[in-house]
Amino acid sequence: AKHFGKNCYKVFDETVKREVDEKVEIELGIGECLRNNKFELFFQPLFNVQQGRVTNVEALLRTKSSALSKFNIFQIIQTAEITGQILEIDQWVIREACRSIQRINEHMEDPLHISVNISALHIMQQDFVKNIKTILEETGVEPGWIDLEITETSLMESFDLNIAKLFELKELGISLHLDDFGTGYSSLNYLNRLPIDHVKIDKSFVDKMLQSEKDSKMVETIIALSHNIGLQVVAEGVEHEDQFELLASYQCELIQGYYISKPVNYETIIRFIQNQNIN
Ligand code: C2E
Ligand code: CA
Ligand code: CA
Ligand code: CA
Repeated sequence: AKHFGKNCYKVFDETVKREVDEKVEIELGIGECLRNNKFELFFQPLFNVQQGRVTNVEALLRTKSSALSKFNIFQIIQTAEITGQILEIDQWVIREACRSIQRINEHMEDPLHISVNISALHIMQQDFVKNIKTILEETGVEPGWIDLEITETSLMESFDLNIAKLFELKELGISLHLDDFGTGYSSLNYLNRLPIDHVKIDKSFVDKMLQSEKDSKMVETIIALSHNIGLQVVAEGVEHEDQFELLASYQCELIQGYYISKPVNYETIIRFIQNQNIN
């Protein structure tokens, strides 16, 4: 690499240094959020096409800390996966999601479900299932109100062991959603072996859907395949009416995206749900 010259190393060094600095900054910021309760949950509604109303919400992590304001939540989560802080975050998110859905459903005739994103590192922990059980017991929440969103990549390591854990959760009455479907290794091979109830089509597919017939056929086929093996389908990242109509015509059960609503805070989701009940 000699012929790249001295300056090249310097640029490289500085890029690496900046990345390391950012990681440290995020790590410290996360620590502060955990200690001083500066995380909060936002909620994004999932619209049930057949029922014509919102039946689910997804809990999405947000931070109130100014130290983290220049980073997006995905960067924060990715760093937390490296530092291991994600375990404490997951713990906080699940507990807070249980408390929130408990309170939300006090207002509801038909209880809503809440989706919680679970990190790969958490699933791999030996006490993962026990952990979830403990939180359910402590918060007294109905397990049937909880949907856990897991990704295919989070299952790849120790596949059989992880599947066994998912079956245990299923037994408790929890629903499992396969998140970001189509973006990972997507082996149709094991789709049948997972105790999931929903497949969540990633935004990247929904984005392309209106571009070409090939892309829309792809989404149509994923939905038909899922239905054929007894799974329901969520589409995420739906921003336009055209996408909504097309997905509804494919019998997609749940629609999530800015077309319905952006993720919003607790007060706003309560108002959103109450308003739709009046209509
Ligand atoms: P995800 O699980 O795939 O979540 C969907 C992301 O798409 C969310 O971004 C959501 O705000 C965004 N989104 C939803 N509808 C639309 C739309 O119509 N248009 C556009 N442009 N975006 C839309 P967010 O909240 O920034 O989260 C990013 C990722 O961070 C999530 O992707 C998830 O992987 C992770 N994440 C967020 N909250 C949590 C959490 O509490 N725990 C864990 N482990 N991961 C989380
Ligand atoms: Ca998700
Ligand atoms: Ca996604
Ligand atoms: Ca995800």
